[in-house]
Amino acid sequence: MNAGDARAAMLPVVALVGRPNVGKSTLFNALTHSRDALVADLPGVTRDRHYGICRLGGRPFVVVDTGGLSGVEEGLDALTARQVRRAIAEAQVLVFVVDAREGLLPQDRAILDELRRSGKPIVLAVNKTDGLDVHEALGEFARFGIAATLPLSAAHRRGVDELIEALLPWLPEDAGETDALAAEDAEAIRVAIVGRPNAGKSTLINRLLGEERLIVSEVAGTTRDPIRVPLERDGHRFVLIDTAGVRRRARIDEDVEKFSVIKTLQSMAAAQVVVLLVDARENLADQDLTLIGQAVEAGRALVIAVNKWDGLDTYQREQCRLALERRLAFVDWAKVVFISALHGSGLRELMRAIVRAHAAATRVLATADLTRTLEKAYADYQPPLVRGHAPKLRFAHPGGNNPPTIVIHGSRTRHIAPAYRRYLENVFRQRYKLEGTPVRIEFRESE
Ligand code: GDP
Ligand code: GDP
Repeated sequence: MNAGDARAAMLPVVALVGRPNVGKSTLFNALTHSRDALVADLPGVTRDRHYGICRLGGRPFVVVDTGGLSGVEEGLDALTARQVRRAIAEAQVLVFVVDAREGLLPQDRAILDELRRSGKPIVLAVNKTDGLDVHEALGEFARFGIAATLPLSAAHRRGVDELIEALLPWLPEDAGETDALAAEDAEAIRVAIVGRPNAGKSTLINRLLGEERLIVSEVAGTTRDPIRVPLERDGHRFVLIDTAGVRRRARIDEDVEKFSVIKTLQSMAAAQVVVLLVDARENLADQDLTLIGQAVEAGRALVIAVNKWDGLDTYQREQCRLALERRLAFVDWAKVVFISALHGSGLRELMRAIVRAHAAATRVLATADLTRTLEKAYADYQPPLVRGHAPKLRFAHPGGNNPPTIVIHGSRTRHIAPAYRRYLENVFRQRYKLEGTPVRIEFRESE
């Protein structure tokens, strides 16, 4: 495998840059939230406002909203903020957002100069063109001389598809997240181990590898390349996808931040199963919940591994279990295992949970049986009436794996409430033993 393939396996990164208030976060939402979201109604999960994955155009990519990173400072000050620079450095394409209503301001020029210095491709999105003469609105910005200049109305979702299309030339052809990895060893289960700094990721990976002494190869490259480590255990083959440079940390300069959301998102996207490692000695943090939300949103199977279980007394263990049970109720389908990466205990159970979650995530569902299950669920409990009419659910068929996706055809499905969706999800979960994986339910209107 050459370096090009390795890169193709990681999602490309697109950064949204521009002055405050031009509509970056509105655009971010339009790009990242529009899909039938799995986490839309999960209590307790805060979406990360700065990072998301866009899956609208068939070639997924990570979207970074640098506006959120720059805080409240204006113009150049914001631009020089270290994090904006880093986002630009990490991106393959820059979307420069300007405001058609305010017109071209000096700060826009300054920002563009900064963007040009990066040498990266720039797509200019002229936002808020709703109700304006588009030709005129674009005219003013033509003097920037950016070939890819597009009108946009992020708030009305107009021009979003065209914008994605304009990005395509710079997104790797086969960014199919997993294709390059799958080609390597189709049988192996791809696992991303994620977690906050110091949760014990490096210790766990080294422990897994040390025990088996099966490090066949390690594809290291530039900082953007993934590192994949094959591993065989208990008769199953795995590929560990390195997260946030876990294994590199000791070798690379201090400047590499310990926790990179982008790398974590990329690793999750490239994996089939995400293992979230948490430290039993610390409370579950918002960041842990955000990571869970991101794994669920990416549709990945999930195992929660509570590390550093050694050294806790019975009382502490009980407290820890109770706290987890309470806070993880929204992903009650995910298996929680208790391990000590340091001492190697609980690892057999961990790997078994990974294998099971993977099996559930890739289970083949049959159309006839799905429809029968749907009919029974519908007969047992119907969705509430909408203006005197009940939404009708007619038949179901499978819509894909990892996550298992169930497509349900019916009428008035727009009016189906989250609670009813959850009810159906639970019915399918029980029927097909879909433990350890999110389940995606999509409704389609048909008469
Ligand atoms: P950011 O600071 O660049 O992230 O900008 P926001 O996304 O927060 O948007 C700033 C303001 O512009 C908000 O009041 C949005 O509702 C508004 N806005 C965003 N996009 C559009 C658009 O396409 N048309 C109009 N008319 N307003 C928009
Ligand atoms: P990472 O930042 O997630 O890669 O975390 P490390 O693997 O570097 O671990 C952080 C610290 O936690 C190190 O001092 C490890 O020795 C310690 N640690 C990791 N796993 C365990 C464990 O199972 N038990 C205990 N007691 N300490 C652990």
